[in-house]
Amino acid sequence: MKAEIISVGTEILLGDILDTNSQYLAVRLPPMGIDLYYMSKVGDNLQRLSETIGRAHKRADLVLITGGLGPTEDDLTRESIALTLDEEMYVDADTEQRLRAFFAARGFTFPERNVKQAMLIPSAQAIPNPRGTAPGWWVEKDGRFIVAMPGPPAELSRMWEVEVAPRLAQLATGDVIASRTLKTIGIGEGHLDEMVSPLLKSENPTIGVYAKPDGVHLRLTAKAATQEAARRLIQPMEEELRQLVGDAVWGVDDDTLEAAIGAMLKERALTLATMESCTGGLLASTITDVPGSSVYFKGGYVAYTARMKMNLAVSAELIERHGAVSDEVAADMARAARASADADLGVAVTGVAGPDELEGKPPGQMHIAVDDGASPQSISYTYYQGRAATKRRAVTTALALLRRALLART
Ligand code: ATP
Ligand code: MG
Repeated sequence: MKAEIISVGTEILLGDILDTNSQYLAVRLPPMGIDLYYMSKVGDNLQRLSETIGRAHKRADLVLITGGLGPTEDDLTRESIALTLDEEMYVDADTEQRLRAFFAARGFTFPERNVKQAMLIPSAQAIPNPRGTAPGWWVEKDGRFIVAMPGPPAELSRMWEVEVAPRLAQLATGDVIASRTLKTIGIGEGHLDEMVSPLLKSENPTIGVYAKPDGVHLRLTAKAATQEAARRLIQPMEEELRQLVGDAVWGVDDDTLEAAIGAMLKERALTLATMESCTGGLLASTITDVPGSSVYFKGGYVAYTARMKMNLAVSAELIERHGAVSDEVAADMARAARASADADLGVAVTGVAGPDELEGKPPGQMHIAVDDGASPQSISYTYYQGRAATKRRAVTTALALLRRALLART
């Protein structure tokens, strides 16, 4: 089954909103055996919208449309489908009843404009939308399908999961695609590519190597008649990759580095404290993104100035001698955090978030340390891609260093 996605809305063309609906749908098609050939974005304009829908309907078995189902005059998706298929719209009494009840239940008077949302054409059925007022349209004509869904992502996702995907699963007959991502850290992209090169020739599954903010991802993708069969193709290859790459693999698929580290700390019954300078609390914030992190995270200090660091028992002498942006001070911050929180491990970050230099040190210079009371670890580098990215990278590096320290302990 060949599909095409159309996102509707002038807001998208103006760059006011990012078209995440297309992505939401696109990642869900290959696992169902649906091939996606085109994606288009089009404004709220009857002519251009029906042109786009008409072209898609001709060349694809399935056209997925999001947006433009609202009650206002610039919501033109229904009108455009009707125009494309040359069918008359009529008010569906059932849907109108349901809409009126929806408003009454919330104590609102029914705006007559909303009758528009109860419209159908002979080839269309209404798709329920309990998260909003606009029902979707399921259109079937000449063996081809057009599915129109609401623009608001929460309404779209519910309609897709509960109504649309199950129906499409019955229709799609092609091979399905399954994929598995192994997430690694500590080995560079080029080096990792070399390590796995004996497997890169494989055609089913295929392997892709991608550098990402949280390390390098190895993505295995297999095609087969069913999800189970595709996963069976992936499994032995995953084993082989794990053999080659070893403990650089920290997680799979949707795992996050902070959750992976949280699990390690929990498993080992260890606790953690942080002291951050240039990341301003981002490290602590990231650690606490994980539900249940209070089990292992004792807390974090944000010590921006030298004075604040000294207040937290970081050595004045080290700051004086090496500057606050140094390996020595990072190590002492990690030690101080650990000691003052009575934690098993302390992690610290000090550096230059940029864009200006500090203490004569360039933006992006970073010193990160982990102290476990026995064998302190540290890392330093200089890499600048803007302030936000620099802070982010420092947090990822701190988590990676923490992981390394945890692995070294056992
Ligand atoms: P409404 O009844 O809210 O008008 P609608 O189906 O007419 O719904 P639009 O008017 O096109 O949808 O968009 C409503 C809102 O939904 C947008 O302001 C935006 O916040 C979100 N939205 C629409 N399209 C997309 C998209 N492609 N990606 C992400 N968000 C979107
Ligand atoms: Mg709208």
